Amino acid sequence: MMKFGVHVSKAGGLNKALQDAISLKCDTIQMFAGSPRSLRKSIINEDEALAFRRGLDQEHIRPLVIHAPYLLNLASPKETTYELSTRALSEEIIRSLSLGADYLVFHPGNHLGSGIEAGTQRIAAAITKACDMAGLTRKCGLLLLLEMVSGAGTEVGWMFDHQRAIMDMAEEAPLGICLDTCHMFAAGHDIATREGLAGTLEQLDRILGISSVGVVHANDSVGALGSRLDRHADIGQGMIGEEGFRVILGNSKLREVPFVLETPKKNLEDDKRNLAAIRRLAREAVTW
Ligand SMILES: [Zn+2]
Ligand SMILES: [Zn+2]
Repeated sequence: MMKFGVHVSKAGGLNKALQDAISLKCDTIQMFAGSPRSLRKSIINEDEALAFRRGLDQEHIRPLVIHAPYLLNLASPKETTYELSTRALSEEIIRSLSLGADYLVFHPGNHLGSGIEAGTQRIAAAITKACDMAGLTRKCGLLLLLEMVSGAGTEVGWMFDHQRAIMDMAEEAPLGICLDTCHMFAAGHDIATREGLAGTLEQLDRILGISSVGVVHANDSVGALGSRLDRHADIGQGMIGEEGFRVILGNSKLREVPFVLETPKKNLEDDKRNLAAIRRLAREAVTW
């Protein structure tokens, strides 16, 4: 059975997030542990966290994925931003551990003109430092996932080679990757056709290994193939389309990986509709 879930809001508290996940019949969920648009510290209440973890276990909602704030820039050549981002990542790791999360997803960063190579070096050093600060080792059970991004502006992490370089340099850190169907399509990986997806996965396997993939973010794309535009669309309603999702969902290598939706939403009905769409397309998909 494939696992599907959505990014749930934590704005109403952890229990509300859990109740939303249950009402949507999520197999897995993603959420922000703190505030998505600020690097301010937010403390997690221990009792609330414990109840949340018990609830997830009872409902068999796993894995729990945490998405780091968007403001993090581990590739920044500016010293203050870099230090702030490194510390914010370590705090995010601590919050993820106290929530019992399986994965912490983050965007590698923006090099702001210093170049991909300098960017990947900064990112790897920041990850190593953040793991040290938070005391994160491979034994902790939390995996950090470098998200594949669309390559807008000076983003690092839209080619598998970028993640490879980071992983090689941050060799002590427990690292994996998070695919994002919208980002990858926008970055120029033609994942909407069998030939294109087979080629992309062959590349992924050769450079990083298929087993490094912890989570897939399932989003349709407003932008065309190679547009570098990071704008998510409802499942089946963008440039990947229903047939593209049938191709993706039918692939036997991806069927083992949990799919989390980050589709546009104003309320739970939007999530409900997109979840129904992706589950239907998974049933219609021909396994290959
Ligand atoms: Zn993301
Ligand atoms: Zn994503």
